[in-house]
Formats: sequence, structure tokens, C-alpha cells
Amino acid sequence: MKIINTIEELQAIRKKLNGSIGFVPTMGALHDGHISLIKNARANNDIVVVSIFVNPTQFLAHEDFDKYPKRDAADKKICELCKVDYLFMPEISSMYQGDDEVLVKAPKISGFILEGEKRPGHFDGVLQVVLKLFNLVQPTNAYFGKKDAQQLSLISQMVKNLFLPINIVECEIIREADGLALSSRNVYLTQEQRKEALAISKSLNMTIISVTKGERDSTTIKNKMQEIMSNLDIEYIAIVNKNFEEIQTIEVKNTIILIACKLGNTRLIDNMWI
Ligand code: AMP
Repeated sequence: MKIINTIEELQAIRKKLNGSIGFVPTMGALHDGHISLIKNARANNDIVVVSIFVNPTQFLAHEDFDKYPKRDAADKKICELCKVDYLFMPEISSMYQGDDEVLVKAPKISGFILEGEKRPGHFDGVLQVVLKLFNLVQPTNAYFGKKDAQQLSLISQMVKNLFLPINIVECEIIREADGLALSSRNVYLTQEQRKEALAISKSLNMTIISVTKGERDSTTIKNKMQEIMSNLDIEYIAIVNKNFEEIQTIEVKNTIILIACKLGNTRLIDNMWI
């Protein structure tokens, strides 16, 4: 595996690459969720590129940019074991060229609901950095987790709207054995919060059982979820179709149930695709 730290080196290497390129953008502190994306890329491409870049422009001023977990040595080892060909770890100063850049903006409606409403500007930053990374890596296939469902949807829309010749591959959510969705931010949780956080996946699992039994009413499902998560500080529970429009009646195979909540200062998101 080759580690690349500069834009110039990446561009020089990219010019010489032939064959399909699978790309997995991450912010590091790699866990089994990231690994599943990398394995998917490895299984379906000639060349695998992973990036680790904690992108400052997608964090709001009060968020955890400064303390976002960093595990560079472990991350390199993981990538090596997963047979990644190129690991791109750029500096902030090389990815951004000042405060007055040409910007890509999240769409006014779907980019400013749910996560976009709670974290205004977040998706602008995500799209900005992903577009830069796409332009540098020029992947055939790019792998994103359903864990960040709205991000995945907006990146797919960017690819479509800007005519980028990249196939976006949606990857399943990876969970701990007890149901907690893997996240680099889980390390912030105290033991007590870690236990309380299980209510999130429990409430999502309940929705599957309810829908299987025939329940289709969003309000009924949301009320049941709220009961299960009564100890948590819920930011939102939303039931949307795949266009991220809120729906009153659940449509099987076209519904995403989303949760954002806080445990102390730690913000967790999770979702279930029904
Ligand atoms: P991050 O490092 O948090 O920016 O995530 C990088 C990629 O990994 C994104 O596409 C995420 O959606 C994906 N990802 C994060 N957690 C999980 C998970 N538990 N299961 C599947 N994919 C995940």
C-alpha cells in the first residue's frame, strides 16, 4: 500500500492508473463500518483508494472538529490488511486554498431538512470536499454507507446534477452485536450512555416488527419509537421516502426511518430502510 500525502503526488499517480478504481472517502478512526465499504470496493475494482481527511468545512463552529478521534497508525494498518492500494491523507492547507473558494451548495430543500436543518452548512462542506476528492481520484465506483442516509442521497444527487461519471454504491449499515450502529463518535460515550444508546436500534427494530405485522401509520410508529427512546434527548425522528419527503403512510421498499439524538455532548444518528 502506498500512502499519499500531497495533491501533486496523487495527481501524478492517478494519470498512470488503468482499470476500475473503487474509492472510499472517510474521516478516519476506521471501524467495521468503514471496513465493509473497503471490502466492497476491493471485491469489485482493480484498484482501491481510501482517503482519510477530517474535513473542517463540514463541522459547525461548536462541533467536535478539534477533538474528532485520530488513529492514524491503526488506520494505516487496517487499510494495509484490507489490501488498499493507495491511502490518501492530505493536509487541510492543500485541500483548501483560502476562504474565498468557488463553492458547491447543497440543494435548498433536501439539503436543509433533518441533518441540514440541525447542522446548517454541514452538507455544503460535505459536498465541497467530496467533489474535490472525486476530481482528484476520478473513481469508477465510490462507496458510501447508508448510515449517513441523507449524505448518501445528496452525493447521489450531486453526481447526477453535475454529470459526474461516477457510480455511487450504497453500503449496508454495520452494527455492534447488540445493535448499536458503528460510528467513530461512539468512543465519546460513557459506559452508561453506551447502554442508553441501545434504545436507538431497539426502536428501529421495533418498527420492522410493527411494519411486518401490518402497521403503516407514521405517527403511530413515531409515538412507539419515542416511548422506547424516552430517556434520550431526541433531535428528530423522521419517516421519509427515498426522496426524503416526509410520508404519513409507510411504503415498503421506499421508506427510511431516521433518528438523531444526543447523549450528553455526543450526537448520534441512525436509520432503518424499510
Ligand atoms: P465517516 O468516516 O464517518 O465520514 O464515514 C465514512 C463512510 O463510512 C461514510 O460513507 C459513512 O456512511 C460510512 N459509515 C460510517 N459508519 C458506518 C456504519 N456503521 N456502517 C456502514 N457504513 C458506515
